[in-house]
Amino acid sequence: MAHGIPSELLMNTTLINDLAAVAKDAALLQGVLMRIKDSPNSSEVVSYAPFTLFPSPVPKAFFLQAMAVQPHYNTLVDKISQDPDFLQESLASTIAVDDFTARLFKIHQLVLKDGRLQSIVLGLNRSDYMLDQKEDGPMSLKQIEINTIAASFGGLSSRMPDVHRHILQVAGQVEVSQRILDNNPAFGLAKAVAKAWELYGSKRAVVMFLVEENQRNVLDQRFIENELWKRNIVTIRKRFEDVSESGKLDQDKRLFVDCQEVAVVYFRNGYMPHNYKSEKDWDARLMMECSLAVKCPDIGTHLAGTKKVQQVLAKPGVLERFFPDQPQVVEQVRATFAGLYTLDMGAEGDKTIAMALATPDRFVLKPQREGGGNNIYGKEICEVLDKVRNGADRMAYILMDRIQPVPTQNYLLRRGLPLKISNCLSELGFFGAYVRQGEDMVMNDCVGHLLRTKSSEHFDGGVAAGVAVLDNPLLF
Ligand code: ADP
Ligand code: MG
Repeated sequence: MAHGIPSELLMNTTLINDLAAVAKDAALLQGVLMRIKDSPNSSEVVSYAPFTLFPSPVPKAFFLQAMAVQPHYNTLVDKISQDPDFLQESLASTIAVDDFTARLFKIHQLVLKDGRLQSIVLGLNRSDYMLDQKEDGPMSLKQIEINTIAASFGGLSSRMPDVHRHILQVAGQVEVSQRILDNNPAFGLAKAVAKAWELYGSKRAVVMFLVEENQRNVLDQRFIENELWKRNIVTIRKRFEDVSESGKLDQDKRLFVDCQEVAVVYFRNGYMPHNYKSEKDWDARLMMECSLAVKCPDIGTHLAGTKKVQQVLAKPGVLERFFPDQPQVVEQVRATFAGLYTLDMGAEGDKTIAMALATPDRFVLKPQREGGGNNIYGKEICEVLDKVRNGADRMAYILMDRIQPVPTQNYLLRRGLPLKISNCLSELGFFGAYVRQGEDMVMNDCVGHLLRTKSSEHFDGGVAAGVAVLDNPLLF
């Protein structure tokens, strides 16, 4: 009963099949929905977003640890975003070999040259963790990464508690069902957006969601839009292309798109190279960055979320730069770091390569990319390193200790796939939201959580990639 879910229940296939049908309907009723792969821009056919049949166990102490550290992560990201020297030093090697990061950095430099116009900063991020259980060692909470742009599933995860509560009730597990936590990141994320909108100070101005061409996950975003509409804040959805066609700045650098003044640009796109289809899309990003609109994130905050910055932060003494008089905060943040290693040219990078080649299964090799499915594991680490080890291209990667969570058994409900019991690994994310005006932190909160679970046979990949599924933590 490691779960709180009795093993007889997990093994009772007749009951599991019945419950799966109930579960899918519960997800449909609650709005845990995604458009389908083949028609991502049509609302004529939608399906449930993938999810677990049962919630997954998470030790309460680690849940509370991650929740408590979130405001410090918010502060850290914000401080990094305001530190051009640190960004420049940290990203220099990556920029030398990674065109995409170089391009983003170029925008950052152009914005600095012009001088930042807007003193209101809005940050919405998600810090992701796994619980590491090495042989014979104690369990510990380790950060996988922090997403400072387009962190998703705050909407759908807000509806997941009621889905699992219902399933457990139907399964006769009323007591377990009462242990499912409330969770409403959509509300908290929207609260921060609304605060930034209010500080911007124009009733007519709108919140613009900058969205992808492929709108498969639009319903996740709609939950946040709806929270804004409830506050009488108008939201619009535009693509880079739309901004490039109908966007302009007035003489005060106010941003207008389709003749509507934009108070807040909320990027749910723009973090992968293929999101920019042409030079015009890059020009549109630059125009938004140079505007008076509040950017979520601004370009500095976007860069603060890079994997290279994550690796640099783990070096001795670096966190102290951002929390000079707060040793307890440094300790609290550092406790969540896994081992992270540079591949920059030089002796330290050489040492990293030797270590990775000797025991590749202990590590994950990460290129400077977001969005799932890019990391390299096992034997493939050796193949890639053999190719790049003697040249500057190796600087496009960082190496990280591989986190080894304890697997649990569950059923993953995914459209079109057979129902079978799986060994699963979970990743726990916390949503951070903050608003700063000049020197004044107006809001700095942890606004909810996200548990994603995948079969242990998959090393990588998120919900959008079709690998991980939505879940709820069951604290014990
Ligand atoms: P992305 O920006 O693509 O989301 P992540 O760093 O979050 O990159 O990695 C993607 C996935 O790979 C994670 O969700 C997790 O499942 C797996 N992963 C990443 N880093 C590690 C690690 N250090 N140990 C084990 N698994 C990892
Ligand atoms: Mg990730």
